[in-house]
Amino acid sequence: MSYYPPVSPYAAGLGCKCPRCGQGPLFDGYLKLRKECEQCQLDYAKADSGDGPAVFVIFIVGFAAVAMAFVARYVLYAPIGVALFISMTFAIGSILLIIRPLKATMIALQYANKASEGRLEE
Ligand SMILES: [Zn+2]
Repeated sequence: MSYYPPVSPYAAGLGCKCPRCGQGPLFDGYLKLRKECEQCQLDYAKADSGDGPAVFVIFIVGFAAVAMAFVARYVLYAPIGVALFISMTFAIGSILLIIRPLKATMIALQYANKASEGRLEE
């Protein structure tokens, strides 16, 4: 097994790169993982972030979108349709923007912290 210098999980995550070598792309498409890293052949089958990224996106974007709708409606006195449009456009745009690096960062953190399913013996 060859040696790989440690890669920052945040750098690998933001760049959507392999958590071991930091070079190969993590995704095949928008959110679908590749089978393995094309640079270091790290198997991505064990990498499963599950619902993790979605939960963070809901908490971050949901809070901001509701605040934005509130400000548009009750501070700027925008009509309700305009407030809804601003809030929805912001929510959809920021979800599409942050979910990919967030998923990659969670997978990189799982790799860095050797997270896996519970086992009774090593
Ligand atoms: Zn790699």
